[in-house]
Amino acid sequence: MDFTLPESAQAVREGVAKVAAKYDHAYWSRCDEEKRFPREVWDDLAAGGWIGLSVPVEHGGGGQGMLELAVACETLSESGGTAGTFLYILTPGFGAMTLARHGTAEQQRAILPGIATGQTKFCLAMTEPDAGSNALEITTSSRREGDDFVITGQKTWISSVDEADWMIAVTRSIPVASATPRTQGFTLLLVDVKEAVAAGTLSYRPISKLGGNVVTANSVFFDDVRVPAHNVVGQVDEGFRVLWDVLNPERILAAAGGVGHAEAALKVACDYARSREVFGRPIGANQAIQFPLAQVKAKTELARLMTYKAAWLFDQGLPCGNETNIAKLTAAQAAWEASDQAFQVFGGNAYSKEYPVERLFRDARIGKNIPVAEQLVLAHIGTQQLGLPRSY
Ligand SMILES: Cc1cc2nc3c(=O)[nH]c(=O)nc-3n(C[C@H](O)[C@H](O)[C@H](O)COP(=O)(O)OP(=O)(O)OC[C@H]3O[C@@H](n4cnc5c(N)ncnc54)[C@H](O)[C@@H]3O)c2cc1C
Repeated sequence: MDFTLPESAQAVREGVAKVAAKYDHAYWSRCDEEKRFPREVWDDLAAGGWIGLSVPVEHGGGGQGMLELAVACETLSESGGTAGTFLYILTPGFGAMTLARHGTAEQQRAILPGIATGQTKFCLAMTEPDAGSNALEITTSSRREGDDFVITGQKTWISSVDEADWMIAVTRSIPVASATPRTQGFTLLLVDVKEAVAAGTLSYRPISKLGGNVVTANSVFFDDVRVPAHNVVGQVDEGFRVLWDVLNPERILAAAGGVGHAEAALKVACDYARSREVFGRPIGANQAIQFPLAQVKAKTELARLMTYKAAWLFDQGLPCGNETNIAKLTAAQAAWEASDQAFQVFGGNAYSKEYPVERLFRDARIGKNIPVAEQLVLAHIGTQQLGLPRSY
């Protein structure tokens, strides 16, 4: 059967590809080296409407779904690697998708038009020093005081707080020990980042890291951060229901970014393997070089199909957890294996900052650990799809 994307998604691919083509690997390596946000790409994408894709039309956006967003993310990553994935996960994913589905009319009116133009940026604060994979055990608390909620606690590894205007803070309004079931007692709150920082109640500190340097990752401290009660996303104590509509898009976009990254690494590797001659022939003619690349190409195509399937299911409002997890697992593996193989193909030159391979290699590795670690995905498949006993 011929598989063709809908016209809407094809148009997104063409539009984003035109923008992405202006920013080559040297640009992304420079941003990585200088540890700076790729503002030119962001502004260019926003001007074309490619950031506001998932904002509903009535709020100035493109009114597109998860499938189109995934294709945009994949296309951007295909040009510069997985670093571009953050641009799609944080604001169009966490911000626009969440508010479009679960925001109040007031929240949507106040925030979505800014996302549509690229002026407003988002981050999500869920992970804590003692609660990553075991997210149910977060302890950052929110308590009602008059017309406000007051947030206290600490988060870690929160991407791009310095760029963000809004944060979705994942808090517990009921501690895990008193929650029955344990998924009860989550409250998601919109925090005006700049206002809370100015008030001196929110602070953050960047974490020095190996890659993904176009956005920061931060330790974040909530010292009685006060937000109005109308900033609750979804229902008080019932935030876990909303959370899956935040985390599934994140995983689908991570998968899309992984597929794009794998293609980027394969292209760099194959260009080099065609032109580099050793023992009088291009190294790409050697099956030890060619076959691993072919194997990753096959895996990448499968991961792409599963990513589109997961995105399509999400858009239909159908359960998509299994497909999302499989897409994320295989796309992250494809991205890593493609980058690892590209590193091999480049021989000694792989180590040089003159080529993009070292950055693709560094950036790809984290996909196996975040946004959900490989083992946790395998545990989900093992328990939910194969009916095996739980380890967690
Ligand atoms: C660059 C970067 C950006 C990030 N951005 C954000 C962000 O914006 N917002 C946010 O909230 N978080 C963010 N995170 C955090 C990320 O989501 C977590 O790191 C991730 O969920 C893993 O949690 P952890 O680090 O606590 O690992 P842990 O939960 O401590 O796990 C450690 C290891 O143990 C394994 N393990 C644990 N339990 C089991 C089990 N039962 N069976 C088998 N293996 C197991 C895991 O698979 C993993 O390999 C980011 C992290 C990084 C590195």
